[in-house]
Amino acid sequence: MRASTRIDTVAVRAGHDVDPGTGAITEPITMSVSFERDADGSHSRGYHYGAAGNPNRSALERALAALEGGGEALAFSSGSAAISAVLRAVLSPGAHVLLPEDVFQGTARLLKRLSEWGVEHDAVDMTSMETLGRAFKPNTALVWTETLSNPLLKVADIGAIASLAHQRDAVHVVDNTFATPMFHQPLAFGANYVVHSSTKYLSGHGDVVGGSVIFSDSAPLAERLRELQWIDGAVPSPFDCWLTHRGLKTLPCRMRAHAANAVRIAEFLATHPHVIEVYHPGLAGSPSRTDAASLLSGYGGVVSFRVAGGQRRALQVAGAVTLFRRATSLGAVDSLIQHQASSPTHGAGTSLPDDLLRLSVGLEHAEDLIDDLDQALNSC
Ligand code: PLP
Repeated sequence: MRASTRIDTVAVRAGHDVDPGTGAITEPITMSVSFERDADGSHSRGYHYGAAGNPNRSALERALAALEGGGEALAFSSGSAAISAVLRAVLSPGAHVLLPEDVFQGTARLLKRLSEWGVEHDAVDMTSMETLGRAFKPNTALVWTETLSNPLLKVADIGAIASLAHQRDAVHVVDNTFATPMFHQPLAFGANYVVHSSTKYLSGHGDVVGGSVIFSDSAPLAERLRELQWIDGAVPSPFDCWLTHRGLKTLPCRMRAHAANAVRIAEFLATHPHVIEVYHPGLAGSPSRTDAASLLSGYGGVVSFRVAGGQRRALQVAGAVTLFRRATSLGAVDSLIQHQASSPTHGAGTSLPDDLLRLSVGLEHAEDLIDDLDQALNSC
């Protein structure tokens, strides 16, 4: 594909080759664990064992690399497995890490574990270059950023953070799960590695747990990452790769629709008398709006908001919705609502307000979603 090929075309076509054996346009799922050696002992067809490689994984990885503008991608069995591999590839005992204050809790927990191995970390406000600059230590080896933070949707200036990290000889990793390559491509702004929970928008239908790491050809730790992918064995099944790869075909269309619905809902919530604060960078009056517009080409489908009346009212609102599903995760076609502070995956150990609800806005009609939220907010 030409370098100028548009993302819609890349999403539909990248990694999808016509099957040479049958002419099938949709590739078959190769379930085999073992791949036959040639008579001379070589593996001329490129595969030898399922944990080390599989045609569906290779196809997905080619598509992920193309979408993020990277030279190579590695697929993992979850976003957390991808994050863990990057942390262990980049860090050694004695290293220091900077991460956002409201980083995904799983990343914070992995770093807490690494402190047992002598890796220290500090959480900072990544929206202030001054604060970030002051937080560097002589041993800072890694700056971790989320394009849009979870759940407060703070927008990071990836280009500015990457150049600061590089001035200080630190590696810059971006978790691009919320923005997706549709709205931001961190490698083009100088980030060294991009990670995703492919569980979310990339697969897009709430039926796969997966993760990925994407980097340029020249990433210095690429060899280590490839080795970790194999020896850890945290790899996705051929079927999960196939499902994620199929999901990528509609990524641009889905992201436009998620983003349009989310803005409508944020605007509705911002005027509702039972809502005290709405977090969405596309909202008029949002402190990050001006910056956000110059940094991202869209804001994804997550909206967080605080309900007047505290935790009890927030839980009542979550209990009163009928269209939104009360469930964790995000990025699928179905809309979900989550009370953050009591969430098993996101709440524990955070300083999030206890009246905060996070919406993953799906692809139902925006007016139906608004009606549902309106009746839930008014019924309590
Ligand atoms: N990164 C972000 C921003 C997330 O929100 C999540 C999960 O919610 C992850 C990574 C971890 O992904 P997974 O659940 O696929 O392990």
